[in-house]
Amino acid sequence: MKLVRSLQTAGRWASSRVRKRSAILLYHRIVELEDDPFDMAVSPKNFESHLATICERYRPVSLLNLVRDQLQGEVHPSSVALTFDDGYADVVRYGLPLLEKYQVPATIYMISDCLGESPWWDELILHILKCPVLPQNLKFDLGSQEVSFSIKGLTRKEILKRIYPVFQTLSPGGHSDALVQLRGQVECSIDLNDHRLMEKREMIALAQHPLITLGAHTMNHVQLATLQNKAQHREVGRSIDKIGEAVNQQIETFSYPFGISGRDFNQCSIEAVRKKGLSHSLAADMNVVTAKSDPFRLPRLWVSNLDGPRFAQLLNRWL
Ligand SMILES: [Zn+2]
Repeated sequence: MKLVRSLQTAGRWASSRVRKRSAILLYHRIVELEDDPFDMAVSPKNFESHLATICERYRPVSLLNLVRDQLQGEVHPSSVALTFDDGYADVVRYGLPLLEKYQVPATIYMISDCLGESPWWDELILHILKCPVLPQNLKFDLGSQEVSFSIKGLTRKEILKRIYPVFQTLSPGGHSDALVQLRGQVECSIDLNDHRLMEKREMIALAQHPLITLGAHTMNHVQLATLQNKAQHREVGRSIDKIGEAVNQQIETFSYPFGISGRDFNQCSIEAVRKKGLSHSLAADMNVVTAKSDPFRLPRLWVSNLDGPRFAQLLNRWL
C-alpha cells in the first residue's frame, strides 16, 4: 500500500513537473493592416480579446519577473509575459490603452538607430504589393553580387517571398542602397506614414510608464549571424547603451532580430549579450519556457492576428 501511495505521489510530482511551463508571447504591431504578408499585425479588437483571455485564464507577469523565476529553476504554470519587437508607434497608439485597461505589463524591444523611421521591410512590402506595374525582371547590385529576379507569372506575395530573404542578409547601408535601386525600377510612390517606429521622444515618455519595460533589439535590425564578431558586439552592445542612455535606465533585456537560433544569431551573438552583463536574451523559436530552457535563447510564441477563440486555442495547446 505504501509503495502504491509513493508511486502515486511520484506520478503526481512528475505530471506537475511536466506542466511547469510559461509562455512569452511575441507581438510586433497593434493595428488593422490591409496587407500583412509576414503576420506582424494584430488588430486592436483581437488584441483586446487576447488580453481578456490572458487575464481570465492565465497569470500575466512582466518578462523580467518570468525570467527571474526561470533562472531560479521556478517556472510558474500558466504565467504569460507579453513582448513586442521593433518598437512600432502603433503599439503605443492602439496597444498601450488596452494594456492599461487590463493592467497587463509588456516589454518592448527597440532598434536604437532606427527611431522614427520606417523599417526597410515595410518599404519593400508596400512597393512589391502596391505598385500598379512591376518590371519583368528586378535587378539589384548588392556590392559583392548582382541578383536578378524574374517575376513573370508570380503573384506579388511570391515575388516578395523571393526577394525578402536576400534583403534580410544585407548590412544597414546595403538595405538603403537596395531600396534606392528598387524605387528606380518600380516608379511609384508609397505612403509609409502608418509604418513608423517610435520616435526618441515617444520612447523616453514610454520608459516612465509603470507597465512598460524597454529592451534592446540591435542598432540596425541586422541578421547578427551574418556579421563578424566585432560587428556583432557593436550592434548588441551599442544598442543596449544607446537606449539606456536615452531613457536614463539600465537596459536588462535583449531580443535577437528575426530571432531563429542558428540561422539569425549564433554563439558569438550570445557572448555579446553576456558581455553587457545581461542574464538572458530572447529568440523567436516557437516554444514555451520550461526550467530547462536556455536563458540566452528563451523561446516565444509568435502571435498573429487571431480572434479570441483561436488565441485561446493557441495558449491551450502550448500551456
Ligand atoms: Zn525585429
